[in-house]
Amino acid sequence: MKFEHIPHQNPVPAAEREKVIADPGFGKVFTDHMVMIDYDEGHDGEFGGWHDATLGPCQPIPLHPASSVLHYAQEIFEGLKAYKLADGGMALFRPDANARRFNESAKRLAMPELPEDVFIDSVKRVVEADADWFPTVEGGSLYIRPFMFANEHFLGVRPATKYKFLVILSPAGNYFKSGSPAVSVWISEYTRAAPGGTGAAKCGGNYAASLVPTGEAFAHGHDQVVFLDAAERKWIEELGGMNLFFVFEDGSIITPPLRGTILPGITRDSIITLAREQGLDVREEMYSIDQWRDDAASGKLVETFACGTAAVVTAVGKVAGRDGEFTIGSGGPGQMTSQLRERLVGIQRGTVEDKHGWVVRL
Ligand SMILES: *Cc1c(COP(=O)(O)O)cnc(C)c1O
Repeated sequence: MKFEHIPHQNPVPAAEREKVIADPGFGKVFTDHMVMIDYDEGHDGEFGGWHDATLGPCQPIPLHPASSVLHYAQEIFEGLKAYKLADGGMALFRPDANARRFNESAKRLAMPELPEDVFIDSVKRVVEADADWFPTVEGGSLYIRPFMFANEHFLGVRPATKYKFLVILSPAGNYFKSGSPAVSVWISEYTRAAPGGTGAAKCGGNYAASLVPTGEAFAHGHDQVVFLDAAERKWIEELGGMNLFFVFEDGSIITPPLRGTILPGITRDSIITLAREQGLDVREEMYSIDQWRDDAASGKLVETFACGTAAVVTAVGKVAGRDGEFTIGSGGPGQMTSQLRERLVGIQRGTVEDKHGWVVRL
């Protein structure tokens, strides 16, 4: 796809940028550029309805008050990172998987698909344009947020005929505010996704519904919320934005199966692949909250960790809910959690062999 490059009239001054990238936090500051591509139904170009791709200044975009996303929440997004390789180069991790999942989400939300190569090309362009925004802080990365929303001015309830796809970037340090080595989680009585709903799609609506339960977790002094399944309120599904893994004394691992109510995480898939490669028994199996508590108490369960692009792999040390709380293992990160995290981060940073072609150098 041809991109028009719109020059930036006043990028952030270097001194200010340096200050930001030394301590970026998460999602607070955005870089100078963004990609934007428009979609109109019936548009007959090289990429069908997609047209007018631009790489330009990251700035507010005007929206008509009747823009359909503001009323019926037709919106999807992705999240990936650009990493610094040990040799100083920059790389993306499995961007093709994000492009594929983006289109799966698009289908569920009745939105047009974007050719995978256009998705990846867009990501590469904006990262290359703003490479000097790469954080200088240890463990930093450039967090990439591609998203699409319905932008037709129309209040009838049906899929829109106009959309915008954008990619913005935010320098990122450590995802969890506390930066603690193990997080504490709160079992919510709210549910995130029902069977047949949008739980497997990465859409804004799922997050809107998770804000109250997440706020409740914070109010009780925890870092994250754990959701149980909506039908039986029994099976563990995932955290607000991360998938869960349970590690047992005998070295076997369980992670909840993809039944349409959890997000098919790319980190989840990578961890399953790495663990199986080293001969571990990884089962995609339902695991109940009662079993979790019992196994933690008996010592059969030795570790629990959460994973996702933003925080990579994070140990869960404490679990709490209305019925009380329990500790997992020592309450800190276990051996398997640390070892899998190190292998994954090693692959992402180019210090561990990338057997699967996951790392895409920029
Ligand atoms: C994005 C996301 C994840 C993690 O997916 P990754 O591809 O590993 O980043 C997990 N759960 C939810 C609800 C998510 O939105």
